[in-house]
Amino acid sequence: MSEDKHHRVMILGGGPAGYTAAIYAGRANMKPVVIQGMQPGGQLTITTDVDNFPGFENGVQGPELMEKMRAQAERFDTTMIFDAVTSTKLDKRPFEITCDSGDVYTCDALIIATGASARWLGIPAEKTLNGFGVSACATCDGFFFKGQDVAVIGGGDTAVEEAMFLTNFCSKVYLVHRRDELRAEKVMQDQMKANEKIVPVWDSVVEDILGEAGKGGVNAVKIRNVKTDEISDLPVTGVFIAIGHTPNTGIFDKQIDQDDAGYLLTKPDSTATNIPGVFAAGDVQDKTYRQAVTAAGTGCMVALEAERFLNEQEGDATRI
Ligand code: NDP
Repeated sequence: MSEDKHHRVMILGGGPAGYTAAIYAGRANMKPVVIQGMQPGGQLTITTDVDNFPGFENGVQGPELMEKMRAQAERFDTTMIFDAVTSTKLDKRPFEITCDSGDVYTCDALIIATGASARWLGIPAEKTLNGFGVSACATCDGFFFKGQDVAVIGGGDTAVEEAMFLTNFCSKVYLVHRRDELRAEKVMQDQMKANEKIVPVWDSVVEDILGEAGKGGVNAVKIRNVKTDEISDLPVTGVFIAIGHTPNTGIFDKQIDQDDAGYLLTKPDSTATNIPGVFAAGDVQDKTYRQAVTAAGTGCMVALEAERFLNEQEGDATRI
């Protein structure tokens, strides 16, 4: 293995957890290497206003925040790699990381901060009409629906945030939720209620999305009221799915202990996984808080724990 392919510590993922881990590891002189994946900056790059990250009294744009974190990590001797990891071998040290480009890296300690990805309803039309009116990112695609009526599916913070964002462009935004009570934060619910362009559609699930790819795209979403079983079509040209996220753990092929939903399990009050030398931080191991600031917090923890692990290992090696 060539020297430039072996590193003391590698970080998988370029979101708030990965970049914060890099800042701390860099400052500890560990020369971290971050493989940023296909979406450098993580989920915050597809959001607009971030009003709850401490230190920005007037809020900050998600992409700008991530750009600042990345630059801060680079200031402390972090190497950024633009590649996607396709597989990992964690049964012995050094750990082996294979990337889409064919490059293979090894490392003595591995920090996993691969985050989570948007979930889909699982109906065929989501795939056939993706890019033709179906999207999981209002921030990315909302602009294309200027002056049109759209629907957002979900009842959490993401759904409400996306619905409010879409009112900047759209005439009407239906918020289709399977219950009659939102999961979103109270303050966001209040903002939504005050927004006349948002029309809640309670107790309703999506049965189908109607339209034709390439021929005008989406023209309606077929919904079913779960209390009355009544079926109706909402005339919309865009459907934004905002029903939560799935942790990005496929590349670990169950080598690391996970919960039923696929989130990596870490030891209590720690970022250590069941494999010594493999640590996890951010949304990939947190299904409760899932905030940029908590991801950054565990990013700090993970770097400190990886450093302690390496010092112990290298101390042992010297003694042998
Ligand atoms: P959540 O898991 O919080 O909410 C998902 C929503 O989608 C729920 O209302 C859920 O319904 C609904 N849902 C799930 N599966 C289906 C399905 N198959 N069919 C129909 N509806 C479905 O995910 P979010 O992405 O909204 O939020 C994730 C985390 O990120 C949260 O902790 C949130 O607080 C945070 N966040 C914070 C933001 C901010 O502070 N600015 C912005 C965005 C997210 P039900 O309620 O019935 O379970």
